[in-house]
Amino acid sequence: MELETPDAQSCLSYRCPYCGTVDVDAYEVLSPGESVRLVCDGCREHFNVLVLECPNCGDETAHTCPITPSASDLQKLSCQRCHHALIDDEDDLRSMD
Ligand SMILES: [Zn+2]
Ligand SMILES: [Zn+2]
Repeated sequence: MELETPDAQSCLSYRCPYCGTVDVDAYEVLSPGESVRLVCDGCREHFNVLVLECPNCGDETAHTCPITPSASDLQKLSCQRCHHALIDDEDDLRSMD
């Protein structure tokens, strides 16, 4: 078992794909399956954050991408906790578009 901090449970965090600054979704603007465009506090660059809920363990993971991720990019994503594929159904991809 891995130890988890309470913060990891209540707030999602994400890392800027440009400068690596880690920010926390303190205002809970992110919701699963929705791509949100944000500005980095560190470098002022825009990037997309997509939160996906693992179909296996239910863990929510925030993925950052400089541009809107393509369907094939999304299919490569896996859960950080259990490494299950986050997108295992093509129907999910169509409904997200
Ligand atoms: Zn940045
Ligand atoms: Zn998982």
